[in-house]
Amino acid sequence: MGIVKATVTTIENRSAVNGVTTIALLFLHIGAIAAFFYVTIPAVLTGIALYWICIGFGIGLGYHRLHTHRSYEVPKWLEYFFALCGTMTLEGGPIFWVATHRVHHQKSDQPGDPHSPRDGRFWSHMGWIIFGEAKHNNTAVMSKYAPDLARDPFYRWLNTYHFVPLVLSAIPLYYFGGIPMLLWGGPLRIVLGLHATWLVNSATHLWGSRRFKTRDDSRNNWWVAFLTMGEGWHNNHHAHPTSARHGLVWYEVDITWMTISLLNAIGLAKKVKVAKVTSVVNEEDVIAA
Ligand SMILES: [Zn+2]
Ligand SMILES: [Zn+2]
Repeated sequence: MGIVKATVTTIENRSAVNGVTTIALLFLHIGAIAAFFYVTIPAVLTGIALYWICIGFGIGLGYHRLHTHRSYEVPKWLEYFFALCGTMTLEGGPIFWVATHRVHHQKSDQPGDPHSPRDGRFWSHMGWIIFGEAKHNNTAVMSKYAPDLARDPFYRWLNTYHFVPLVLSAIPLYYFGGIPMLLWGGPLRIVLGLHATWLVNSATHLWGSRRFKTRDDSRNNWWVAFLTMGEGWHNNHHAHPTSARHGLVWYEVDITWMTISLLNAIGLAKKVKVAKVTSVVNEEDVIAA
């Protein structure tokens, strides 16, 4: 899951470097390093808040658990808001992200998986974005993998112009906090979010424990879960893809699940699907890391 530009990419497609994406990533990383030379308290707090909103709301609550897996339901306005937050990560539009991730679940660690570490660790982390095909905003191509989203004109528009909300966000950031807030709320926050999301594709298919004997290499990794607000309980997730809850026991902290529970308590989240806990404590399913 995750990127600036790319598409559902198979290993056969790794050919030319995706120029625009690579240059954008290069400048973003330079901007991220520069942020450490422009430190102000408001800038740092803004960066943290935007990280939470974009990665927590946009990816965890939105793109992943809602748009891709439909593990719960919210009013349309909130669904659209989460999608807008998702675009702010620069991981592509909703139709692209959902299509790529659904293919990942269909072909996990098999030929056709867009980002499996079996094709190389660097490939699974960011190689698939740098060398992948640049069809991320080719809405027509991606739509067949996400027909539910493609029926919605708002998602079709957002998928093509996914960079617009992020570009517009530069105006208030610069207006209220100058260069420091622009760098912390922009490049640094984006780069940390991208790597955190990419770690779900790389690290949680490499390192951590396996509670369930899934047919892929997925693992539960606490530090990726910390960075992504719950997405690191990835073996649980591959075993129970439609569960809104990924951290299945009390010590598997899952901030996104806590947020869904809160939304459910105030009546905003409905039809919340949760993996049965009995399936978790079946010791026969527990195997060593
Ligand atoms: Zn996975
Ligand atoms: Zn998933």
